[in-house]
Amino acid sequence: MNSFSTRAVGLLLGAPGPQRWRITQSLIGLGGYLALALLLWLGSAGEGALLERARVLPPVLAMCTAGLSGYLLMRCRLNRRLAACCGCEPSLTLVQSLIGVALVLWVYTVTGPARGAVLALLVVVVMFSMFALGRREAVLLASLALAMLAAVMGVMTRAQPARFPSALEVLHLGVTALVLACVTMLSIRLVHLRQRLRDQRTALSRALERLSELATRDELTGLPNRRAMGEMLLVETARHARLGAPLSLALIDIDHFKAINDHHGHAVGDAVLRGFAQRMEAELRGADVLARWGGEEFLLLLPGTDAQQALQAVERLREGLRRQPFDAVAPGLRVTFSAGVGGCLGQGDIDSALERADRALYRAKAAGRDRIEPA
Ligand code: GH3
Ligand code: MG
Ligand code: MG
Repeated sequence: MNSFSTRAVGLLLGAPGPQRWRITQSLIGLGGYLALALLLWLGSAGEGALLERARVLPPVLAMCTAGLSGYLLMRCRLNRRLAACCGCEPSLTLVQSLIGVALVLWVYTVTGPARGAVLALLVVVVMFSMFALGRREAVLLASLALAMLAAVMGVMTRAQPARFPSALEVLHLGVTALVLACVTMLSIRLVHLRQRLRDQRTALSRALERLSELATRDELTGLPNRRAMGEMLLVETARHARLGAPLSLALIDIDHFKAINDHHGHAVGDAVLRGFAQRMEAELRGADVLARWGGEEFLLLLPGTDAQQALQAVERLREGLRRQPFDAVAPGLRVTFSAGVGGCLGQGDIDSALERADRALYRAKAAGRDRIEPA
């Protein structure tokens, strides 16, 4: 759309959003009223016309006024204020459709022998509104429309029995009731389908959330997994290179973890991994990120930290861990780790920084474990 038509649509329908949808609905309603008014006007034109102009004029004017007022009400956002103070829904669908039904019924009384065709419009008004209504409101609207039609027919058969023979009116009422019942059933079915679609969409977005959680989190420890850490490394190295800030990483491996598994069982091994992750996270600064890199190996990313500071930080973690046994998991169970710690110079240096840290970790293991080596 070019800027002129965008502006014209904006002027006519307002800003995008739910209110624009309501304004569009009211414009469709206005179009419907104007079309019917035009038909009545044409039907009452000229000599020997089917309709009497004097009878047709009041409902024609009423429809033009109602259609225009409905549009202006929405366009000036008065519906929202009304909804706020009355506690009703802002589309005012039920009220608008009842006004529509009343106007169509008025037209019914002035269209003489052609009035049977007007009943089709009554069904259209009800159907049009039902898509925006809930199940109970849809039934209420159909019942009210039918009751209003019956009342109008009752009054007309008494007031003008020659023009409104009761047998014909009863037939009209019966057919309209049948059609309205079918329309109501169909629209209820549609409301039900729409609700199911909404529920499925919600379930799908929940499943997607869960999937992305599974794709980026390690299930056992709740830490970011290797894939998520790989992405964070790319983002953080680029950011720190831009800011000119240092960045360090530490490859941490639990010592003799196989022996823990062998002596205490796999479940205890799992509990140690969970407890280890919790303790480390509790000690880390907010900006630091710990990820499970694999098995009993963890990668710690320390943004804004140079290699020397990183060595001190990881040393603190090591001291803290070895001081406190994992009594809650297995009484007296002490866990230690070894680590290779070094700086990372940027995105292009990630692989080699990891390799340096791995070699340093290997040296720490070879030197007796429970120690940290600079990369
Ligand atoms: P080192 O001090 O040299 O690191 O020795 P280690 O025993 O810690 O290392 P090794 O590589 O020999 O054994 C690691 C063990 O970790 C083997 C594997 O079964 C176990 N492991 C890996 N992932 C898990 C897990 O999720 N849960 C449990 N319980 N054990 C795991
Ligand atoms: Mg190990
Ligand atoms: Mg290992």
